[in-house]
Amino acid sequence: MVLAASSLGTQDLLFRLKDRGSLPRISDALGAQVRTNAESLIGVRYPRSDADLSQGIAIGSGVYLDEHTHIEAVRYPAGSDSMGLLTTLMEIGGKGRGRRTAWLAALLRQLLTRPLATVRVLWPANFARETMILLCMQTLDGHLTMRWKRRWLWPFAKHLATEGTKIPAFIPQANAFAAKGAQATGGVALTSISEMLLTIPMTAHCMGGAAMGHNRSDGVCDGRNRVFGYRNMYICDGSMLGANLGVNPSLTITALTEHAMSHIPSADRQSWDAIGEET
Ligand SMILES: Cc1cc2nc3c(=O)[nH]c(=O)nc-3n(C[C@H](O)[C@H](O)[C@H](O)COP(=O)(O)OP(=O)(O)OC[C@H]3O[C@@H](n4cnc5c(N)ncnc54)[C@H](O)[C@@H]3O)c2cc1C
Repeated sequence: MVLAASSLGTQDLLFRLKDRGSLPRISDALGAQVRTNAESLIGVRYPRSDADLSQGIAIGSGVYLDEHTHIEAVRYPAGSDSMGLLTTLMEIGGKGRGRRTAWLAALLRQLLTRPLATVRVLWPANFARETMILLCMQTLDGHLTMRWKRRWLWPFAKHLATEGTKIPAFIPQANAFAAKGAQATGGVALTSISEMLLTIPMTAHCMGGAAMGHNRSDGVCDGRNRVFGYRNMYICDGSMLGANLGVNPSLTITALTEHAMSHIPSADRQSWDAIGEET
């Protein structure tokens, strides 16, 4: 059996089955070390630009801002302007509530002094054509913990819910890079609304939660993707990753899956995996 429902999908499935008693031996490390690739999605918009930034391959270049921080220039294809609804003006000064106040003040100032230009920056039409997305990722250690519990808002069923320490909502170096880049090239720096208003980072790279480990106490599966405690059960998706990669994860997920598959013997040589036995 191969589980490949993505980090959140596989965690949901395994928590549900462990809770119901169908898979009681799934490691208690389930839900630990859930990561976002320490990702931050920001950008620079060039309203009324002559260039069409929506044409070309999605990710063509990237630089390391420091040994842990990689930033890529990304484009959204034509037809994805609605992504613009998730963005707002970037504010790099202040912390916590002070930052939100500074953002609101800057937004009001912009709306009063340059109303048309500001509306054009925030308007979703032409967002893909006029925007260079900056995708920043870090290899630094930061993680969430997922638990299977009832929410006070809807106590009738259990759901995945985060617990414990939050991860940083934004990466100061990345924001500084976007702000400087915008200034140098005549654009306007943007960030996500969730980051600015709710202090929640936006990510397309949710990983971990059923990570590889040495044994059942520190991981859900082993280095060949075999689930501890069970025979012939494999996890082959982003949930197996035990670290922030700092780069886009698809190829790593594919390579680790190919590695796992390469160790599965052909049908005529099939035998039970010793790793599946309870230790
Ligand atoms: C907008 C966007 C752009 C991205 N760009 C890149 C990029 O350029 N390069 C890169 O490397 N990565 C990129 N990523 C990240 C990449 O897509 C993911 O990291 C990768 O797809 C994760 O692979 P996965 O196998 O874990 O899960 P997925 O690819 O999400 O596959 C999980 C599958 O399981 C299915 N599923 C879920 N729950 C269940 C269930 N209970 N039962 C049955 N099926 C279920 C889902 O429908 C889905 O088909 C991007 C992500 C997004 C959202």
